[in-house]
Amino acid sequence: MAKDYYQTLGVDKTASQDEIKKAFRQLARKYHPDANPENKKEAETKFKEISEAYEVLSDENKRKMYDQTGSVDFGSGRSDFTWQDFSHQGDFGDLHDVFERIFGGGSGFGGGNESFFGGFGSNEPNLDLLTDLKITLRDAFEGNSSTVKYRRNAPCDECKGTGAEGGKLKRCTTCNGTGQQRVVQGQGFFRMVSVTTCRTCNGRGSVPVAVCKVCKGTGSIPTTESLEIKIPRGAVNNLRLRLRGKGQSYNGKTGDLYVQLVIPDDPLIRRINDDLQVVQEITFPEAALGGERTIEVFGRQHSIKIVAGTQPGDIIRVRGSGMPHLNAKGSGDLLVVMKVVVPKHLNSKQKELISGLMEEGEKKHSWLRI
Ligand SMILES: [Zn+2]
Ligand SMILES: [Zn+2]
Repeated sequence: MAKDYYQTLGVDKTASQDEIKKAFRQLARKYHPDANPENKKEAETKFKEISEAYEVLSDENKRKMYDQTGSVDFGSGRSDFTWQDFSHQGDFGDLHDVFERIFGGGSGFGGGNESFFGGFGSNEPNLDLLTDLKITLRDAFEGNSSTVKYRRNAPCDECKGTGAEGGKLKRCTTCNGTGQQRVVQGQGFFRMVSVTTCRTCNGRGSVPVAVCKVCKGTGSIPTTESLEIKIPRGAVNNLRLRLRGKGQSYNGKTGDLYVQLVIPDDPLIRRINDDLQVVQEITFPEAALGGERTIEVFGRQHSIKIVAGTQPGDIIRVRGSGMPHLNAKGSGDLLVVMKVVVPKHLNSKQKELISGLMEEGEKKHSWLRI
């Protein structure tokens, strides 16, 4: 039988958006699991139902589709509702913790954090977090440390993430400690038994003797974390570093944090795989006669030899002085591109000398002839 979203929210088919929102808010409070300690399971189920109904009726397009066909496509042809489909997480700040608890963590985190690696739609909430960290090319070259700041639900210190006062747990009576529930559907011969995660204990098999007062039984505390990250030498743009146990904490488990490095282009030093390319300006006499220059790259001095007859765009390669190879021995090369600078202003003495060169060039077999 088709679901009646209007009935679920207790509103008319002609209800306005304001009425729908108001009805949802009232029901969300009524079925808040904390307000229903006796019937937590039912309250959660009901909470999901009203969330689904609200998701559809608050969206004019989905509502129209539902009015016409009696069902809604939640993407990829699915008609089953998951937390991913609920697009109003930010609209009900005061209910945020309920959403998180019922649907699993990872929602509503701003500031560059993002949840990924699936997890939605299954019983296991996704506890991994992803955050960006901007570093410089020099940080990658030197393997510096950098600090990443992000928000997460950290394990509660008081109860060590168990949600139980003093960490004391007792066997869950709903599932008899197995963490699983058998649900029998249908009757008689066509009986179907499905095994699901126990909703009372969330599959842990145990429940708190008394609820931890600090985290109110959630086992976690919203925290802004500041972590010092050691950048691996030779790190590349978009490299992901995994920090175990630094993700979301929920139900006694903690996910991982993935730090994705963002390395903007350096204005002076171009990276080509593990080679580093710089441009060195030289004068015409240096190009013609040869010479020596000392150049500095990330605080290191390199002495380069300019051979006589160097052409603009010639490259001098300094082996092993480029970017260190990531997770391997050795480094790329340093490539120094020669840029011959033509003077814009000349004094009379210089003009005279260059005119002399011109005359020299006009002679037969001159090296200045092109
Ligand atoms: Zn249980
Ligand atoms: Zn606690």
